This record gives sequence, structure tokens and C-alpha cells, in this order.
Amino acid sequence: MPTSWLEISEKNIVHNIKSIKFLLGKKTNFIAVVKANAYGHGIVAVSKIAEKNGVDMLAVFSLEEAEILRKNKITKPILILGYVFTDDLSRAVKLDCHVTVYDLEIIEALGLMRPDKAKIHIKVETGLNRQGIALKDLPQFLKLVKVHKNIEIVGIFSHFADSDNKELTKSQLEKFKKAIKICNNNGVYPQIKHIASTGSVLTMPESYFNAVRIGLGIYGLWPSLKTKLAVKEQSVKIELKPAMSWKTAIIQIKYAGNNNCVGYGCAEKTKRKTKIAVLPVGYWDGYGRGLSKIGEILIHGKRCKVLGRICMNMTIIDATNVPDAQIGNEAVLLGKQEQEEITAEEIAEHCGTINYEIVARINPLLPRVYL
Ligand SMILES: *Cc1c(COP(=O)(O)O)cnc(C)c1O
Repeated sequence: MPTSWLEISEKNIVHNIKSIKFLLGKKTNFIAVVKANAYGHGIVAVSKIAEKNGVDMLAVFSLEEAEILRKNKITKPILILGYVFTDDLSRAVKLDCHVTVYDLEIIEALGLMRPDKAKIHIKVETGLNRQGIALKDLPQFLKLVKVHKNIEIVGIFSHFADSDNKELTKSQLEKFKKAIKICNNNGVYPQIKHIASTGSVLTMPESYFNAVRIGLGIYGLWPSLKTKLAVKEQSVKIELKPAMSWKTAIIQIKYAGNNNCVGYGCAEKTKRKTKIAVLPVGYWDGYGRGLSKIGEILIHGKRCKVLGRICMNMTIIDATNVPDAQIGNEAVLLGKQEQEEITAEEIAEHCGTINYEIVARINPLLPRVYL
């Protein structure tokens, strides 16, 4: 038995993909974002589920992730969102990956690879100020790309900085349209045009163009509370079902008197006679140290507070309110147990971060069971 494990609901992932596909309609291509080990859900299993359920393309961050997918017989087109170093470009092309490009070094290196065909998506800067080529540099860039007959500009894309911010999003949308126009004016017609991700897909149909990149929604999570409320307000009918649960089992039960130190640094003292349960999960597994003294974990459907600091491999909790808790009993770190539920949002709030980081940082070595 593993010290802790993830249960991933295939049914919920399929439900989320189908619900989003319904929202998109038939004409919009679905690019499933499976970077970061599919946000902790398992890159190979999720990609197989996505492929089986009508997703058109997969997006990863790195060439290494693309290699894992090809090794596991994923045949759909793969877009590498990150940077492929010039030395590695031939590997990317051999795996039939679409490469994100925004600088000429990559174009020159790809050009040298003829007759091998290279498929690229141009990333344009519209307001995030991360990856991307500025609009003013685009005409010259296109001219130089067109010199290389083996390079095919398959796509053009950009990324929103904050889809809850309507002003900024609108200005990014306008810049993106302008970029497409610049392409067309230079005789370049990328087939796949995409800027929207989960947040904008849920709230802004005008951002779809003919493809969207969806990560978080597949896993049944909302990008923000603001997005969730906006969707409700627009009376868009969509239910996202979280796909991940994280479970472990109690490895010791003991009792401490009042005013006893618990854990490293004596960061917390008992305030009563306390029933203590020890769990074999810690920050190495991805149960962050930010949860020290405030996190809650379910046993027999009851919330038990973390006592003291999270350790590297263990966590100590207060099981005083669960008199029948015993060694070997299941404890739920994330997900439902009986009538209670711990959400990724709750954990994120305790850690001062977002649900994305909570699921993405769960140790990839933990076993994932698909149900
Ligand atoms: C991660 C990522 C996405 C997916 O975003 P979600 O909010 O998870 O849907 C889309 N596009 C790019 C460029 C990304 O890096």
C-alpha cells in the first residue's frame, strides 16, 4: 500500500471535456493542455482520455513532455507551448510536434533542417508581456519565415493576462485580431488561431476564433471565483466536476495532554487533552508547509485540523473529534468523504496561492488510480 495516492475520476474528466465541447460548438477546435503532468492528474492517462473523447490537439510545455506522449502512442498533434532550444528542434520535428516560435534564431535553425517539414505556431505579444513577438516586428518576421519553404505557419496564438479583467482582455483581443490581419496582409494565413483558455472560454465566446486551449476546466476546476460568478450571471449552464481526490491512511494514534508541543519548532501547543493522528504525507508529496497549523483533513467524514508544522513526509492532525479513528483508517487530504469535502480552493487559500498550483505540485511519483 502506498503512503498516499490520488484517485482520478475518468468519468468526471470525460464529463468536463464533453461539457466544454458543448459550449464550444462544432467549429471550435479543442486543444487540451496537459502540461505539468496534466496539472498533477497524470499526463499519459489524461491525454489518452482526451484523445478518446474528441479533443483535437494536445498542448504541453516541453519537448520532454511531448516525447512521453509519443512514447505512449498518442497520435494527435502536439503543440509545445514552451521554448525548444535550437539543439533540440530536430527531435521536435521528428515527433511531428508543432513548435511555438517568436524569434528568428528558431526560424533559421528550422530552415536549415529542410527537407524536413517544420510546423510552427507564431506566438504574439498582446499584453501579458511573457513569450511573444511584438506586432511591430511581425511583418519583417513573416518575410524571413517565408524564405524557408519547409516551414509551415500552422497557427498563430496569444495568451490572456487576466480574463476577469474585461478592459485588458478586450485590448488583447484587438491586438490579436490585428496580428492576424498583419499575417493576411503579408500573404500568411495560419489555419489555427487561438487565444482563449479556460477562463475566457467560460465567459467570452467572442474569444474563441477557431481553437481554444483548455487546461484547468478539463480537471473540473474554476480559474477563479470571479469567473464562476460571471458564468452564473451570464446564465451559462455548465457544471465542472473536480476529478482528483488525494488519500492516505493513519499510521499512528496517540494522546497528548493539554499544553503539549506538537511537531518541529513547537510551533503549536495542544489546548486540551488531544487525540493525535499521524499521516504519512508531507511537503515532499506536495502537501505544502503553508498548511501548517491551519490545514484540515477528513477522517470518517469529519474535519481534523493540522497540528504544528507539516514535515517532509509526515503530518500530525487533531483527531479528538473522531473517537473511532484508528490506525489504518482512510484520511482524505483533497476530495470528498461522507458528507464533507476539502476543495483545491480551500487548500490554495490556506497556502496563499491558487488551485492550479495545489494540484500541479502534487509529487508526480505518487501513484494515481483511475476510476
Ligand atoms: C497553461 C496554459 C493554458 C491553459 O490555461 P487554463 O487556464 O488552465 O485553461 C493555455 N495557454 C497557455 C499558453 C498556457 O500556458
